[in-house]
Amino acid sequence: MKKFDVIIIGGGFLGLSTAYHLSKAGVKTLVLDKGDLGGGTSAACSGRAQVCEGHLDPLNLMLIKEGLKRHETLEEELEMSYEWHRFGLFLIIRTEELWRRWQERSEILTKSGIPTEVVDRAALQRAEPAMNTEGLLGAAYSVEGLLNPLLFTRAYARAAERYGAEICSHAEVIGMEVQNGQVTTVRTAKETYAAGAVAVMAGAWTPVVTRLAGVEVPVRHTHAEALVTEPLPPVIHNTIELSDFYETIHGKQQAVAIGFGPEPNGTLVITEAVTMTDRLHQGVSHWGLSNIAVEMIRLFPFLAKTRVVRSWGRPTSFTPDEEPIISWAPQVRNLFIATSMVETITAVPLVSEWMALMMRRETPPVDMDRYSLARFAGGWSWH
Ligand SMILES: Cc1cc2nc3c(=O)[nH]c(=O)nc-3n(C[C@H](O)[C@H](O)[C@H](O)COP(=O)(O)OP(=O)(O)OC[C@H]3O[C@@H](n4cnc5c(N)ncnc54)[C@H](O)[C@@H]3O)c2cc1C
Repeated sequence: MKKFDVIIIGGGFLGLSTAYHLSKAGVKTLVLDKGDLGGGTSAACSGRAQVCEGHLDPLNLMLIKEGLKRHETLEEELEMSYEWHRFGLFLIIRTEELWRRWQERSEILTKSGIPTEVVDRAALQRAEPAMNTEGLLGAAYSVEGLLNPLLFTRAYARAAERYGAEICSHAEVIGMEVQNGQVTTVRTAKETYAAGAVAVMAGAWTPVVTRLAGVEVPVRHTHAEALVTEPLPPVIHNTIELSDFYETIHGKQQAVAIGFGPEPNGTLVITEAVTMTDRLHQGVSHWGLSNIAVEMIRLFPFLAKTRVVRSWGRPTSFTPDEEPIISWAPQVRNLFIATSMVETITAVPLVSEWMALMMRRETPPVDMDRYSLARFAGGWSWH
């Protein structure tokens, strides 16, 4: 039986980036993914390194600021381009209440080193002349990052392999053996591996996988549908999203909240129609795609005759308090769990470095207790 110091279950952003740092530190690492690398949610996302929509606590603000900085040199470090560039973001404001809230948020963000400002409708119209701004008060503006998510997963995977990590796609983990409070083996249909430690970084599938080791985690998911258009002339100049994107979708059985932006090749990636479901799948619906189109055409009427070339759906996980879980499991001593980050792309260059330290039983430079599973020890409720 092959033995590894660490077996990572999940070959998305979190699993592959952590495998890179572990193998770089000389840790014998195996990554197992049930499908293609990035084929869960990572490679199917919009590729935005978001900066201003998440939690405003000092830890998250620091992850955003430092994560962005890491991206500036990460392509060189990983020896592969993932098409990183900075890009403007307008978060559309439709109500007085959102205007007030974004003024407050902008102040906090700017003071923390993430420059953000609220601009009025006239300024928004000047920046995006093709937009129908009728009924809008303005927008919050910031500069975030944009990358190609498929290349980002590949860059981490290749760099991890260069340092000796073994990475197996199409290797679904179907069993784990637990003895005396420790996982001893991890099983796929073809092989059984001995494990010093196991990291479950399986995105929305995390509860299904941790259950194989008898561990329950409070993680649920929404199913998000997205589409990409044919290449368009350069008429839209920034990423554009609702300023209440997350509130619009949270806790709803079905909702559409648009967020979209032009890709370097001129196509427009448009997200998302969201359904609350227990089913983990990759499908799209007539309801979802047609409602995304209605919202888009309301904002940019010239898109009415645009062709959609592809659509897809993917699950996105969340926890009861909408903070990530990055933690050893209290019940199984060598089982590490990481899932449900909000600004995943922005934070992952830094967080993966810290997760690799934690997995080596070293202390990360910053207290990560906020993300510990222990916070749910007294129970939890879903809203
Ligand atoms: C439409 C859409 C747009 C998004 N846009 C953005 C964005 O612009 N910016 C951003 O930061 N975030 C975005 N997100 C969220 C982002 O994609 C996720 O936060 C991120 O991909 C999660 O990465 P992960 O590594 O935790 O999970 P995943 O990428 O889902 O990786 C988990 C992996 O585990 C594997 N797995 C599951 N079960 C098993 C098993 N039994 N055995 C082996 N492997 C298993 C899966 O195949 C999967 O590849 C978006 C999400 C969606 C749906």
